[in-house]
Amino acid sequence: MSCGKVIDMNSIYCDDCQPKMPYITGERCAFCGESKADCSCKKHKHNYSSIIAPFYYEGGARNALLKLKKYPVYAEGLADECVAVIEECYSDINFDLITCVPLNKRRKRLNGFNQSEILAKKIAEKTGVEYSPVLLTVFDAKSQHKLKSIFRAGNVRGIYDKIKDRSVEGKTVLLVDDIKTSGATLNECALILRLYDAEEVFAVAGAVARGKDM
Ligand SMILES: [Zn+2]
Ligand SMILES: [Zn+2]
Repeated sequence: MSCGKVIDMNSIYCDDCQPKMPYITGERCAFCGESKADCSCKKHKHNYSSIIAPFYYEGGARNALLKLKKYPVYAEGLADECVAVIEECYSDINFDLITCVPLNKRRKRLNGFNQSEILAKKIAEKTGVEYSPVLLTVFDAKSQHKLKSIFRAGNVRGIYDKIKDRSVEGKTVLLVDDIKTSGATLNECALILRLYDAEEVFAVAGAVARGKDM
């Protein structure tokens, strides 16, 4: 999943990559998703109750997530890693549905698919929780990664809405994104879910970028 070397079907990494994978270990900060030992966030409350991820967005995890944008098959191993942290951190939560951060139409057309959706569907398959596409983008915003962090919350403000015939009322939702940077995108998606009366929203990402929480 990291270097692309052909390996045994049942493994995710080769022997060289496995020990170098940037796992987030120890007690986690619910606000930013980093390990408490690394966290330097300001503990700002978000519309999601907590964020978890198996990895920091660096090294082998960065490789895997960049490849996921082109090749859906990378969702398999990443979903396994996400499910492991879900089982560790969210084991006492009964999720009613799993959904993902939507991609705007232009990006989806360019990519051919939404990598967060592929990851969310795989997590749903592995956990047995229903996957439901709930959110859509109302208009296209600039790419978040091109913007300084102070502009990111504003850039995504109001760009999402709920798909008409989908309901989240009274539901506990697991929201999936591929990479969490400032958390602005997840926060805005969680806001919409809560505006439509979701009971509570928890987030999971394939990886979390260090020191970027808004
Ligand atoms: Zn490798
Ligand atoms: Zn933190």
